[in-house]
Amino acid sequence: MTARLTLSFDNGPDPDVTPFVLRELAARGLSATFFPVGDQLRKPGGRELLAEVAAAGHVIGNHSMTHTVPLGESPGWETVGREIADMQDLLGDLAGDEKLFRPFGGGGRLGPHLFSPEAVQYLVAERYTVALWNSVPRDWEDPDGWSERARRDVQRRPWTLLVLHDIVKEAMEHLPAFLDGVLADGVEITAELPPECVPVCRGEVTGDLGPLVAGG
Ligand SMILES: [Zn+2]
Repeated sequence: MTARLTLSFDNGPDPDVTPFVLRELAARGLSATFFPVGDQLRKPGGRELLAEVAAAGHVIGNHSMTHTVPLGESPGWETVGREIADMQDLLGDLAGDEKLFRPFGGGGRLGPHLFSPEAVQYLVAERYTVALWNSVPRDWEDPDGWSERARRDVQRRPWTLLVLHDIVKEAMEHLPAFLDGVLADGVEITAELPPECVPVCRGEVTGDLGPLVAGG
């Protein structure tokens, strides 16, 4: 079976990195999902940059306003309002029809720190889709080594949802070679999300949230 790969770029947009990523994707006819954070989006030029991402046909999700504290470690409605609802308002019409949320993982970990019970209640009531991940090659920590790890991840999984960051220039300099490598491996790069990484789909709970919710 052909291995599949879904690309996602978190924590941007960044004027020194995002345009480069867009060019490399466009050069290969690839689509990805971008998960910007509010504090980056509010910087001068941030909105124009994200509008370029949307105009290029990529999907834009919500990766929280401040990206500072995992929701499960800050229970209550105030955090939900600031980190999810206010960020969705800030995205406005740049967000797609499907409201997509990716929680702040604090280094890519999956666990009960990801969501508070209130956050889950909100995401379900507001009919969000939650996009997690299954490969975090830690490009921000290892700008030169991430791409080999990522390529191995893609080879051994049927469908990888890869988290990269369009914010570390040195790391993204390896993106062209990585993309050409996985394409040479025969991997199908798709914009669809693997169901195993989507525990909530348009408000329907489709996965096991228990291990991902504080006190759950
Ligand atoms: Zn992040």
